[in-house]
Amino acid sequence: MIELVDTHTHLNDEKFKGQEKEVIERAKAAGVTRLINMGDTLASSEKAVTLAGTYEGVFAGVGIHPEEVIEMTDREDDILAAWTDLPGVVAIGEIGLDYYWEKDPDKRKLQQRMFIRQLDLARQLHLPVCIHDRDAHGDTMAILKKEGRGIRGVMHCFSGSWEMAKELLKQDWFIGVDGPLTFKNAAKLPDIVREAPLERIWWRPMRRI
Ligand SMILES: [Zn+2]
Repeated sequence: MIELVDTHTHLNDEKFKGQEKEVIERAKAAGVTRLINMGDTLASSEKAVTLAGTYEGVFAGVGIHPEEVIEMTDREDDILAAWTDLPGVVAIGEIGLDYYWEKDPDKRKLQQRMFIRQLDLARQLHLPVCIHDRDAHGDTMAILKKEGRGIRGVMHCFSGSWEMAKELLKQDWFIGVDGPLTFKNAAKLPDIVREAPLERIWWRPMRRI
């Protein structure tokens, strides 16, 4: 059977509470031998870390998601950094920008600052990042250009243009392909997946880069 790596799960979500073992076993039976489980708040990141320490083949990303953004301080940085020393924690994520749900310009500014802050943390920790970019391609790429030096990762659930994909591929980034590939209106994505090198549309769990 082909072995698959699910690079983006949310097993820490409330709806899986108490069924994590079952879900992981079901995924493995279907050929998903590794799962990277993303945190989106401090609480869910902590749960991702616990699951990674408990189950074989389960890895964790830790970070604050743009929809859950808070004004981070050194305290949050230190907590996230301490978790990345634990077994199975392989990335900072998911982090990024979400302008689909967030229309308030001040909140968008806060998302940008916390995105930059967590990119900086990833650089210091030599960890890859998992980026959430929804309706914010311009600012995401501008921030990566300015603040993303020496950082690699995956653009999760990629929804940008072929030009944006090419820019990311040039920087050795990975393109995350998710459910929207199957949507009838997935205009550009099938072409991008066809054009992108196969080894760039998946992401292996990697410890330090
Ligand atoms: Zn996610």
